[in-house]
Amino acid sequence: MTLGNFELTILSDGIYMNDGGAMFGVIPKVMWEKRATPDERNRIPMGTNSLLVRTGEHNLLIDTGIGGKLSDKRRAIYDHEPRLLQSFAEAGVSPEEIDIVINTHLHFDHCGWNTYYKDGKPAPTFPRATYYVQEGELQHAHEQHERDRVSYMTDNYDPLVASGQMQLLNGDTEIAPGISVKVFPGHTRDLQAVILRSAGKVACYPSDLVPDTQHLEPMWVLGYDLFPLESIDNKHRFYDVAIPENWLVVFTHDAKMPWTYLDRNEKGLPVARAMDESSRNLQFK
Ligand SMILES: [Zn+2]
Repeated sequence: MTLGNFELTILSDGIYMNDGGAMFGVIPKVMWEKRATPDERNRIPMGTNSLLVRTGEHNLLIDTGIGGKLSDKRRAIYDHEPRLLQSFAEAGVSPEEIDIVINTHLHFDHCGWNTYYKDGKPAPTFPRATYYVQEGELQHAHEQHERDRVSYMTDNYDPLVASGQMQLLNGDTEIAPGISVKVFPGHTRDLQAVILRSAGKVACYPSDLVPDTQHLEPMWVLGYDLFPLESIDNKHRFYDVAIPENWLVVFTHDAKMPWTYLDRNEKGLPVARAMDESSRNLQFK
């Protein structure tokens, strides 16, 4: 898809299976199972949609999927086969061409391909890139709080911080012309969305603030969210701009619809706009 002068491509790290209850929090199962059918272990399929943005000057990758460093046990739990590098090959792009990587946050399913194991040691998958994350997110990852330490794998970021390849941000900022980040607390304290602007068009990757089309309503927030009330308030804030300004919204975890424009229904709730298949045209696995 083109966005002004930018070219946007979804690069998937494959589908994984995740607990439906954890994904829908306080929403009763009788309601969420109409949207996402769970398997016999109560898991639902989730996408891992990284976004490649080619601006002509920069090749930006937003989030890096689950990666290939999970233990066999965890890989079996999620039923995940890493495929991001295959998605790169299919798109005719090499990881060496990426010069900017933005991690919206440091949960393992958003920064897993930051590094890979080379001779048993973590090495950058994108050797020429500068990686960006919010400093507060890194601090929280280092706290290793019992609530969510299972979501943080140090090999995804600490080697990059140590080598100076990962830059730490403090709040909203522009990273390159037309590429900016905005912090939306809720899922974590320092989750950052990425906002892309080119020739009057805007796209946004809100990450786990709005992870997929099953979570469009402000009230439908993830069980994982550390600050669910802030998630709800920030989803309202996001829609109040994104809908009237006709932003393209890119979903990090939607297994079927990686992007769409939004409208409001008769109740005022956000809904995905019907788009024809060609405009969603993806090699999507
Ligand atoms: Zn997350």
